[in-house]
Amino acid sequence: MSPLALHELEPSSAIRLLLFDVDDTFTQHAQIDAQALHALWRWREAGRMAVAVTGRPAGWCDHFARMWPLDGVIGENGAFWFRHHPATRHMERQYIGQPEPGSALQMRLKAAQDLILAEFPHARISQDQAFRLYDLAIDFCEDVQGLTLDDAHRIAQRLRELGMTAKVSSIHVNAWFGDHDKCTTSRRYLQDCHGLDLAQQASSVVYVGDSPNDEPMFQAFPLSVGVANVEPHLPRMAHPPRFITPSAQAQGFVELVNQLLR
Ligand SMILES: [Mg+2]
Repeated sequence: MSPLALHELEPSSAIRLLLFDVDDTFTQHAQIDAQALHALWRWREAGRMAVAVTGRPAGWCDHFARMWPLDGVIGENGAFWFRHHPATRHMERQYIGQPEPGSALQMRLKAAQDLILAEFPHARISQDQAFRLYDLAIDFCEDVQGLTLDDAHRIAQRLRELGMTAKVSSIHVNAWFGDHDKCTTSRRYLQDCHGLDLAQQASSVVYVGDSPNDEPMFQAFPLSVGVANVEPHLPRMAHPPRFITPSAQAQGFVELVNQLLR
């Protein structure tokens, strides 16, 4: 089923929480966009909540949680969430991923890394790998050239053959041991931090993303939105977003916030 146009999404004060992907959903050409950041501030100043749900590493998420106008950050595709409480100067960190991070896990990730780099000579380890706790991120179009989306899906399939969960984002192939993903951890986060049962209160949450790794979220959240650059991924998606924005990337994010606050 094709996504509906964004204007079909009825604004409602019952929508309390905006969950959003970061890369190519909140960013514009790989940078934080002034209008998107302003939209996020406007959203929170309207008394609503916002949570970033990203494949980015723990090191980055620590920064997001502390310095962005957010209620929480779910990172490394659901391996953990961080919440900063400025009033009490407390950073809450809840780790979900299994197995535990550490040298044994790093050796297993390194073995997978070596195999992929040998089989896909154009692939590179992402520049943010050093700040990751749980997963391996293969760069296919952030800082490298010469790999296609089909290559990214082939790399993901190879990593699955090694017993890993693998997802293709707009820039990386992320792979990890264990079965968490953006969606399983978002459900837990909503329940544990906001007392919100997705099955019963789905109409109070919107999710927006752009990539195949957002598909479990598009499936789980009835109010799911793709920014326009989700389009090339739609043919591969069994569960496309319900709505699509007119514009791509951060401009689509701004359109969504404007529609919800209309
Ligand atoms: Mg993305």
